[in-house]
Amino acid sequence: MRVMTIFALLALAMSIAVGGEAVSQTSTLSRAVQESDSRQPAIPRPGQQAEAARKLADFEARTGRKPNILLFIVDDMGYGDPGAFGGGEAIGAATPNMDRLAAEGLKLTSTYAQYTCTPTRAAILTGRLPVRTGLTRPILAGDNVTRNPWEGEVSLPGILSDHGYHTLLVGKWHVGEVEGMRPHDIGFDEFYGYYRAQKEYIQRHDGHRYPDLVLDADKRERYDAIGADDNLVRGLKDGTTETVMEVASVQDMAEGDGMLRDYTVARIAELARGAEPFFLTHAFMKVHADNWPSAAFEGASSSKYPYKDAVVEVDSHIGDIMQALEDAGELENTFVFVTSDNGPQMDGWPDSGYTPLRGAKGTTWEGGVRVPGIAYWQGMIEPGRVSDGLFDLMDLFNTSVALAGAEDAIPTDRYIDGIDQTSFLLAGDGESRRENVYFWLGSQFTAMRMREYKMHTKVVEPAEKFLWIDMATLQDTALAPWLFNLYIDPKEEYTVGHRLNAWQASLGNEMKAHALTFRKFPPKDIGLGG
Ligand code: CA
Repeated sequence: MRVMTIFALLALAMSIAVGGEAVSQTSTLSRAVQESDSRQPAIPRPGQQAEAARKLADFEARTGRKPNILLFIVDDMGYGDPGAFGGGEAIGAATPNMDRLAAEGLKLTSTYAQYTCTPTRAAILTGRLPVRTGLTRPILAGDNVTRNPWEGEVSLPGILSDHGYHTLLVGKWHVGEVEGMRPHDIGFDEFYGYYRAQKEYIQRHDGHRYPDLVLDADKRERYDAIGADDNLVRGLKDGTTETVMEVASVQDMAEGDGMLRDYTVARIAELARGAEPFFLTHAFMKVHADNWPSAAFEGASSSKYPYKDAVVEVDSHIGDIMQALEDAGELENTFVFVTSDNGPQMDGWPDSGYTPLRGAKGTTWEGGVRVPGIAYWQGMIEPGRVSDGLFDLMDLFNTSVALAGAEDAIPTDRYIDGIDQTSFLLAGDGESRRENVYFWLGSQFTAMRMREYKMHTKVVEPAEKFLWIDMATLQDTALAPWLFNLYIDPKEEYTVGHRLNAWQASLGNEMKAHALTFRKFPPKDIGLGG
């Protein structure tokens, strides 16, 4: 099925390439250079690459070590939620900590995630598109995965752990909870968190919202028979796995992010005393639906809505964790990145984020995949920078590996879609090395962005305005693919049409080249379908 889809993409890309008047066998718009058939072509930037290499060498000479890496991944936060991205106080939930990191770091306005949770997390961990690893959509309770997707994959925490890092994930996992698929099975030295999304814990206990489940003994029993893990778990690489606490009420989940914050703050102080650098992913449970305010944050936002209180809480935890870094003397030793794993889930409105862009989570419209991106590193990233250069979150794979000096560990026997963006982030006036971002909805190729152009070959259309997941269809575009210029039309409302057919052909050729990578490196199917 998936193979068919990819051949369909190939055929489509070829028809685009020959359909216009300006037939071009090479992509006239692309500045990227292919260095290997197993790597995504990147734009050469020799000046900034040399500058970044010098900065990193100076850092290592000064400190005698590699830098820590701290990734903050908020769940389902919209592009427009943080104040630095146009939200904040203006929409009833101030975000002073994220705003400060953006002001004192590099604000990336064209950061892209995948269309839902699991695919984004898998892409960051592997540097590969979900369609290659088979992690094309969230694994849900009751799913029968036919093959462990991690079998044979090389993970980012695995590489860093092998290169002298202590690697830990605090918070949400959502990439499988059976043995062999847990964070501490796939490269993390340490895991403290939850296997699934917040809603999946809360639905079992919220009799107001889910009375048909919670108040019905027979259905409760059947639900429990699924056997999904409903605990806060701590796991170690040696296989030790213990339950820290069972989530037995809505309030237990509401307080979850506070417990995650406490753990991260405590571990930073401990890890700072050791000699190893650390790779820490702090993955929030909030602001994914269903949001219930923790006691300390109920009504903390000016809007008073649970979603907004959750934004304020997440922002506050980011502030606390950054303070812990500073208190431990690690602020200048730590590369920090703040982002969200996908766009807002509008189906749950008003328990949902804000994006000024078209679409939402579950789509590859900008609203579904463009997320806030903030890179911060005191003394290493020049404060106050803003860039619209393309940054795909899976670039964090290659970039983190480069910061650890472990590039040789990136496999060459499979396709790696991520790009090393170290020089974009660290050079004073660094520019992105990424020319294209590819968008897949499950195993369906839907769109590609190149520079300010984005071309769709399939589009998600909701039957009701907000129901982008729960009542929507995926449709083929007709004669012409839909080509938007995101600089003049960031909301993707009016195509520039086939009058720009030279660019259509150029993007079509890039799609064709993308399709060919699957011929040489066939994708995995783990039974999630698309
Ligand atoms: Ca998510």
